[in-house]
Amino acid sequence: MSLTLRVGDLTIHRIIEQETTFLPALEMLPALTPDLLAENRPWMREAAALDVQDVLILCFQSYVVKTPHHTILVDSCIGNDKPRPARAKWNLKTDDTYMRALTAAGISAGDIDFVMCTHLHPDHVGWNTRLDNGRWVPTFPNARYVFAKNEFDYWTEQHAKKPVPPFDDSVLPVVEAKRADIVRNDYEIGDHARILPTPGHTPGHVAFTFGRGRDDAVVSGDLMHSPLQARYPELSMKFDVDQAQAARTRRDFLEHYCGTDTLCCSAHFPSPSAGKIRRWGSGFSCVAVTAS
Ligand SMILES: [Zn+2]
Repeated sequence: MSLTLRVGDLTIHRIIEQETTFLPALEMLPALTPDLLAENRPWMREAAALDVQDVLILCFQSYVVKTPHHTILVDSCIGNDKPRPARAKWNLKTDDTYMRALTAAGISAGDIDFVMCTHLHPDHVGWNTRLDNGRWVPTFPNARYVFAKNEFDYWTEQHAKKPVPPFDDSVLPVVEAKRADIVRNDYEIGDHARILPTPGHTPGHVAFTFGRGRDDAVVSGDLMHSPLQARYPELSMKFDVDQAQAARTRRDFLEHYCGTDTLCCSAHFPSPSAGKIRRWGSGFSCVAVTAS
């Protein structure tokens, strides 16, 4: 399977850290009924999005987008040495899968010009930092780290009420190292990178769009987690902070890109994860394109 996609003047590399079972479908999608799951089980299994016990399979990955001018890493996955006691597969892990995947794509940590986070959940900020002599330091030494202001403000507020470990170990050290740009939604880099606000999963969640003056690709973050939510955009996920807003955002996003040539790079759909949005009944599917 090729992990490299080309569209317009962009080259996009998928950097996979884990592709694995996550939560039972009926638990993760509270509005999903056993009947609706049964109806969709065959194609979900075929897509390797559901295991034999009806547990959803998710991919955890970064997208590295190379424009003619910059190398941009979107969402830095899970990371190493991070205390995440609620998730055994993430907790204090020390494997070299992620760094080996970067190397295999021909990219070194020093090549990254920008790190962009769609939101600040633990599986999207983990490799922002690495442990160095007991201190968290930026993993990508030459990068500016881009955080959306609404999202940053939300987690600042949460963290003040009760410590939020991923904010503490993977976001604040970047700010302290003066590598962070807290940006508004009109942020752009040249004519190649822009923000698309997509609130719901978290209040300040954003997608990033890439391409010279048009959206050749969009990295969509966690506005959806499973292809089942493309088919049924109203199925929100148990961790969506605002379930109703997440459902509206999901349908609006899918309607916007439906039938276009924009490559939608999902955070968590199982491999190949990226595709073009097409209509499917009253919902949508993300149709894989052949990677080159
Ligand atoms: Zn996620």
